[in-house]
Amino acid sequence: MHNAAFAALGLDWIYVAFEVAPGGLDAAFAGARALGVGGLSVTVPHKAAALAAVDEATATARAIGAVNTVVRREDGSLVGDNTDAAGFLASLAEEGFDPSGRVCVVVGAGGAASAVVHALAGAGAAEIVIVNRTEARAVPVAALGGPAGRVGGLADLECADLVVNATPIGLAGASPEAVPFDPRMLGPGQLLVDLVPNPAVTALMRGALDRGASVAGGLGMLVHQGAAAFELWTGRAAPVEVMRAAAAGALS
Ligand code: NAP
Repeated sequence: MHNAAFAALGLDWIYVAFEVAPGGLDAAFAGARALGVGGLSVTVPHKAAALAAVDEATATARAIGAVNTVVRREDGSLVGDNTDAAGFLASLAEEGFDPSGRVCVVVGAGGAASAVVHALAGAGAAEIVIVNRTEARAVPVAALGGPAGRVGGLADLECADLVVNATPIGLAGASPEAVPFDPRMLGPGQLLVDLVPNPAVTALMRGALDRGASVAGGLGMLVHQGAAAFELWTGRAAPVEVMRAAAAGALS
């Protein structure tokens, strides 16, 4: 989606993927500094380690505890940022959902959940309930929600306005029909956002639709976190629809 965006704006940039082994992040960043790379995306398993490997991190990246975007300053130093939270909020806005004053349940307590909880707290959600297989991991993520955050259980789904699946359950591959919870717990008036980006419609989303809930997939957050990164790197407005079409095409 980034190469499609560079082409659409006539920018002589290119986006390429490098696989970096666990433990290799400092060397990879040193290489990026030496090569004068304009910016980087960081993904699993390096998002948390990148926070320590950059020269400076934004308040957002520090609050979430993870870097997904690195911007190179003119002096060559690397600044770590996190666009996942803003990307998530932009995708919610596309669904016409304003989290302010609403009850939100986030299932999962990893990196994606941390960004979502930070975003929901910043947007003024009334309650942010974290439900996770390993309850101990839910505690620090709930703390990111401030006074609105707490650890809960699946019973909390009933009262939620927004439910977010922030686990990889349902991801294309091993068990695409698997669901993180029974979608029959959802119903009309509720919005389910499944962050799993592929398939476009997961088994969880199909089940929730059958129950009359509204649903959105992970493509919106993926595209908007990328668009925000694109703007940080290039200083240009991202061609969001070009990026969405390219990402959807690649995923399908
Ligand atoms: P992560 O840091 O590894 O966290 C995964 C979470 O899912 C953990 O809380 C884990 O629970 C839980 N989990 C994993 N397998 C489970 C299972 N079988 N049963 C119950 N819980 C399980 O992963 P992440 O980076 O947050 O990513 C989570 C999902 O979000 C992935 O599907 C990823 O593709 C998606 N994502 C999407 C976007 C987007 O832009 N759309 C951005 C980021 C991530 P435990 O704590 O108990 O291990």
